Amino acid sequence: MSASMTAQRPDPDAAAPLPHDASASRRSYDVDALAEEIVEKLTYSIGKSPARARKYDWLRAVTLTVRDRIIDHWLEAEDARAASGGKQVAYLSMEFLIGRLLRDAINNLNLTTQVAEALKRYNVDLDMIELLEPDAALGNGGLGRLAACFMESMASVGVPGFGYGIRYVHGFFRQEIADGAQVELPENWLLHGNPWEFERRERSYEIGFGGKVTSVVGEPGKPPRQLWRPAERVLAVAYDTPIVGWRGAHVNTLRLWSAQALDPILLDAFNSGDHIGALVESNKAEAITRVLYPADSHQAGQELRLRQEFFFSSASLQDIIRRHLETNESLSNLHDKVSIQLNDTHPAVSVAELMRLLVDVHGMEWDEAWEITRQTFSYTNHTLLPEALEHWPIHLFERLLPRQMQIIYAINAAVIRQAMESKGFDGGRIAAISLIDENNGRRVRMGQLAFVGSHAVNGVSALHTDLMKETVFHALHELYPDRIQNKTNGVTPRRWLMEANPGLTSLLKETIGEGFLDDISKIRDVERFATDAGFRDRFAAVKRENKARLADVISERLAISVDPDALFDIQVKRIHEYKRQFLNIIEAVALYDQIRSQPATNWTPRVKVFAGKAAPSYLQAKEIIHLANDVARVINSDPAVRDLLKVVFIPNYNVSLAEIIMPAADISEQISTAGLEASGTGNMKFALNGALTIGTLDGANVEMRDHIGEENIFIFGLTASEVAQRRREGHSGRSVIEGLPLLRDALHAISSGVFSPDEPNRYNGLVGNLYNNDWWMIAADFQSYWDTQRRADALWADPAEWNRKAILNTARMSWFSSDRSIREYAADIWRTGTDA
Ligand SMILES: *Cc1c(COP(=O)(O)O)cnc(C)c1O
Repeated sequence: MSASMTAQRPDPDAAAPLPHDASASRRSYDVDALAEEIVEKLTYSIGKSPARARKYDWLRAVTLTVRDRIIDHWLEAEDARAASGGKQVAYLSMEFLIGRLLRDAINNLNLTTQVAEALKRYNVDLDMIELLEPDAALGNGGLGRLAACFMESMASVGVPGFGYGIRYVHGFFRQEIADGAQVELPENWLLHGNPWEFERRERSYEIGFGGKVTSVVGEPGKPPRQLWRPAERVLAVAYDTPIVGWRGAHVNTLRLWSAQALDPILLDAFNSGDHIGALVESNKAEAITRVLYPADSHQAGQELRLRQEFFFSSASLQDIIRRHLETNESLSNLHDKVSIQLNDTHPAVSVAELMRLLVDVHGMEWDEAWEITRQTFSYTNHTLLPEALEHWPIHLFERLLPRQMQIIYAINAAVIRQAMESKGFDGGRIAAISLIDENNGRRVRMGQLAFVGSHAVNGVSALHTDLMKETVFHALHELYPDRIQNKTNGVTPRRWLMEANPGLTSLLKETIGEGFLDDISKIRDVERFATDAGFRDRFAAVKRENKARLADVISERLAISVDPDALFDIQVKRIHEYKRQFLNIIEAVALYDQIRSQPATNWTPRVKVFAGKAAPSYLQAKEIIHLANDVARVINSDPAVRDLLKVVFIPNYNVSLAEIIMPAADISEQISTAGLEASGTGNMKFALNGALTIGTLDGANVEMRDHIGEENIFIFGLTASEVAQRRREGHSGRSVIEGLPLLRDALHAISSGVFSPDEPNRYNGLVGNLYNNDWWMIAADFQSYWDTQRRADALWADPAEWNRKAILNTARMSWFSSDRSIREYAADIWRTGTDA
């Protein structure tokens, strides 16, 4: 490179895009070329010879080789996009729970056989290499995993888009179990570097906090301009990861922001000897993207969290505006070129920030800016739980984001005026729609802000959307009756069927051809084989292999041996009272009791598997984990139950563990208190892999029942409206428990220390709650749950019938593909095209 070129590096974004010559550079997919290139990467990018390379070196070399093939598609996609000037989607999400990327990329490029062959030449096993990749856990659970499935589906069905989020240095914590209790350890996914990401220093933006707003007299006849002078500023730097869709058809970008200090070191302070003080700014800035808050379905409420939310919202909006102005004259057509989806309220401050950027920075009139803002945003609600709805104390908001606070007041005044004038809203209904909660020491309500700032608001299952209209957004729905719509969640069949369950995928290919790989609705063709005894046996054999694989994991990690021929009854998800792991554990205890007192009965051998993390500050959830482990220890070591019942808690639930667990389940536990689970997506992954669901009529379970057929799913318990009714009546568990000896005895065993002899009172609180209030309807639903489990036992005794139903589950789950969800968003909310 010549000196003149290095001296003045052109801004790559400013240069007119040169078309990328794909044919010239596109890398070969054949085995020889791959083998050669892997060694080239090993030699020249990593500096190792094949003989001296270690496992991680091979992982890196393979990743770089595969990555080059994605980059070909990526650059093509960017050029095509720039040339077409079509509409794009920006998916703003605080969380992307993407998991490992290598297998996903290799599968989507249809390179699995070739890469495995190429590596075999050096005696390296691709499966082993893939398992070394750290799990990118930039999310808590369902919400973050949904964002990851959506990114993959957008790239598969051809919705051009960006995911925008935060590059947390420490993702979701690693969970260990010590003496039965959860221990949280920091996770360090960037330890070995991250070969998937590209740092884009040229894509960096200043983000302000605090300071003052001053009014500047504008031109004659124009209102004064407001100028925000932040007291603090940090830099948001972009890191891009390519997300490749099925068959490499499209590649989208996941752009994650990292915080850096504007001045990495305060030289004045350093030179005067204050070496620590010199780094204070830099530490404070970088703290913003250091950790993911580990609370799921619970508002974190800390100032740092609000900083994170504003930081990534503002960076993303500045980036969207800059990209828009590269190819457009003005911002007046922003809403025709970009659709911004707010994944929950975490990025809701974007509504105020976009108004600020349009009005204060780009000089747009307020009314036009408001129209564009509303046309640009749409908002997905993920929960109705009051403790999860975000709201910020006014004083905090005002101190951190003074100009955004003014804008929120102005929006609020306009909305309230309109509600009074057009609909005659008065006291109670005005209070319900107000962006300011006046009852709780004055707070900004982020749900209301996201709602009024969006042209479309969606729930994530039919039931959840109906409940949204009836509860949290009742008054806003009255004011804007066309705004709420439903978009039932989905999961990507590439990761959750093809990659997680290669055995079933092969069997399906042999039986119905490969069409379902490109169009998952074709999986329905397997339905007619449900009554074919030969096919049923092969289906069962695949399940048996997957169970053996999980049994190996359980044996390696926990030194517990479980029988792959037993019924695998699995509940894996975040630990939460509303998800009712406690109900499942009580059933295990009751079953244990019954097996001991009636040893001669023909019990169905069961393995109950649990996994999931509790928020570190959520004490009840941590007690539930402790109880599961205590119960497991006692039952597994009791010779009286033999192999009839095993209870296992597998630590550190994450995406990679889920990929092993989902294909190995016979029963999927989806037993939340009805009305509380917005959708669930774990339920979909299990059923797609042929597990039978035992579940309440909650979230997407309701629609799963409609698709799978009610005779092929075990539904039990109170409905959402019955739960609401009981709560209104002041239900408490005591009378129920006293009338059910089975439940009463199980609870007595738990609260009298049978499972916690070292601390007999450990579970008094947990059990006491059921007697005193039973808010989650555990006692209320127990009998129904028990009876339904025994119906499952009876069905298990008839393997042909069980497998027939399991096959029908797989055959009928295609509607729950995230491809379908994305096509609906594209058609009804984003108004962008898709390939098909
Ligand atoms: C799918 C998934 C979830 C969501 O599970 P639910 O049962 O819907 O709560 C959470 N965590 C991981 C790792 C997942 O893969």
